[in-house]
Amino acid sequence: MTEFDPFAELRADCARCFALCCVVPAFAASADFAIDKPAGTPCPNLLADHRCGVHDSLRDRGFAGCTVYDCFGAGQKVAQDTLGGRPSPRAREVFPVMRDLHELLYYLTEAATLDAARPIHADLRAALAETERLTGGTVDDLARLDVTEHREAVNSLLRQASELARADIGQKVDRRGALLIGADLRGAKLRGASLRGAVLLGADLRNADLNRADLTGADLRNARLDGADLATALFLTQSQVDSARGGQDTRLPERLRLPAHWLTRPARTAADRSAPRRRSTGSPRPGRTRRYRGRAGS
Ligand code: SF4
Repeated sequence: MTEFDPFAELRADCARCFALCCVVPAFAASADFAIDKPAGTPCPNLLADHRCGVHDSLRDRGFAGCTVYDCFGAGQKVAQDTLGGRPSPRAREVFPVMRDLHELLYYLTEAATLDAARPIHADLRAALAETERLTGGTVDDLARLDVTEHREAVNSLLRQASELARADIGQKVDRRGALLIGADLRGAKLRGASLRGAVLLGADLRNADLNRADLTGADLRNARLDGADLATALFLTQSQVDSARGGQDTRLPERLRLPAHWLTRPARTAADRSAPRRRSTGSPRPGRTRRYRGRAGS
């Protein structure tokens, strides 16, 4: 019998979408996107059948941002349920709202699986039900929905779940929202740390222990995760993993997969592994991306 996967509908299924993420958001030319594109305008690389014409060479062509974007399944939800399978210009109004709601569903689903969060499981299930109810609204319902109030209520629950999941860990690092760009954190003991919203852009986290570290909304672009242990990291998304660099020796939660671009990178050399520990003197250019930044961690 196939095991029930609570995250199944929270993963993008591009075959059931109209490439909404290639049309609705605006792009600004940056390290992640080779071009400027206004909101609501199809990307020039988009084919008539909603497939990407440069899919096999996105990174080489300067569209790395496309490889890390995650709609959390909002695309197929809008395309098939809200719009009933018919493309509509009103997708522009509802897709960003649905994407926010699906992101909240993702975090709530994870929180509801945490044994330590049992004291608030009933509240988490109620929040899940309410968020799912909101996703079932009509185009008009979704277009006038202000997600802010709902997000704040959900965030409060997620913070409680995080506290409960980390409660038995003694000495915990609290670096919420910290600017850790290019930081040398090799081998760091970050078990149970709060890194919500931390900017770890280009940070070196090789061989770090990030078990039960709260990574909600942390910016991991170009962070090095080779040998890092994130098997029980909290609120880590595929998009965050895809934006980082790692290898087959990076441990991830079961629901996440090793990105293909990690597996095709040249293997680390012995010199790389034994490089002297020193702080990075530079940091990658924090190019703007089209991904909607996770707001659940704000
Ligand atoms: S380049 Fe990116 S935005 Fe453009 S069609 Fe391909 S995946 Fe979509």
